[in-house]
Amino acid sequence: MPRYLFNCEQCDEQFSVFLNVSESCSSCSICGSTKITKIFKSREKNEKQNVVGMLMSEHIKETREEIEQMKKTLAEEGQK
Ligand SMILES: [Zn+2]
Repeated sequence: MPRYLFNCEQCDEQFSVFLNVSESCSSCSICGSTKITKIFKSREKNEKQNVVGMLMSEHIKETREEIEQMKKTLAEEGQK
């Protein structure tokens, strides 16, 4: 089932709905308003790219912390 993104004018939130091609969404899943507009799929692609970017920076952060920890351990061992 394809996923569609909608933007709600009432609460200014975006939400996604799984719909059959023949179905349509008529109200906001957050506030129930009918003032909703469909967002095109390209946005979904951007979201995925952001997730990849987030995972990358998270990985870099973890690696940095590991290196810091290693330096600390080495320094402590050097003091002995
Ligand atoms: Zn809403």
